[in-house]
Amino acid sequence: MTDLLYLRDAYLHSFEATVLALDEARIALDRTAFYPTGGGQPHDTGELRWDGGSARVTGVQKKNDVVWHTLEGVAPAVDTAVAGTIDWDRRHQLMRTHSAMHIVCGVVLNEWNTLVTGNNMEPLAGRIDLDFDPLPDGFADTLQAAVNAAIATDHPIEVAFLSRAVALADDALIRTKVNLIPESVSEIRVVDIVGLDKQADGGTHVRSTGEIGRFEITKIESKGKANKRVRFTVA
Ligand SMILES: [Zn+2]
Repeated sequence: MTDLLYLRDAYLHSFEATVLALDEARIALDRTAFYPTGGGQPHDTGELRWDGGSARVTGVQKKNDVVWHTLEGVAPAVDTAVAGTIDWDRRHQLMRTHSAMHIVCGVVLNEWNTLVTGNNMEPLAGRIDLDFDPLPDGFADTLQAAVNAAIATDHPIEVAFLSRAVALADDALIRTKVNLIPESVSEIRVVDIVGLDKQADGGTHVRSTGEIGRFEITKIESKGKANKRVRFTVA
């Protein structure tokens, strides 16, 4: 299995690892800071170097407990020691975007008692699907102001690993349906925007909301009954 370094330290952007397995242009590593696509957050890109070679990492996927890195060019052999570097500017933009997304979740839940039903993001832009029909009056202005106020307040963002029993006993987590996580998952990673939003999450986040920048709603679309899609940017 792969040790998922990004779960404990989102700011780690270079690391050393060993090749575990090879599958055509993809390699599995024993540890990685590369985030694999998941939870609405796209995978990292970057570079791997080893004695006598290097390759760009153009895709990252997690299958069961193993992270596979798609390489451009010739892959190193099994057991090769590699040094990885992720494209930090892009990743940090994704962290800002992902944390902004969680602020939206918190605001929507606190203000309107509504859950986010879907999301997707790219660096500095995202979309969120909400179960509203119709949208409340003044929704966009209220949401944008509340998110920017939360950014200005600079809430700390903390990551914790909780036992399933502790997570299920937390009212804030139950609101976000943590009980729907499969019972086979015994340890639950929780991302807590202190005082605003707490949810089970595997993504990478900034240390505090002040790092996000300015949040702007660019478009709201209706995607059928009880589904409103909010598009936003971070600058
Ligand atoms: Zn998330």
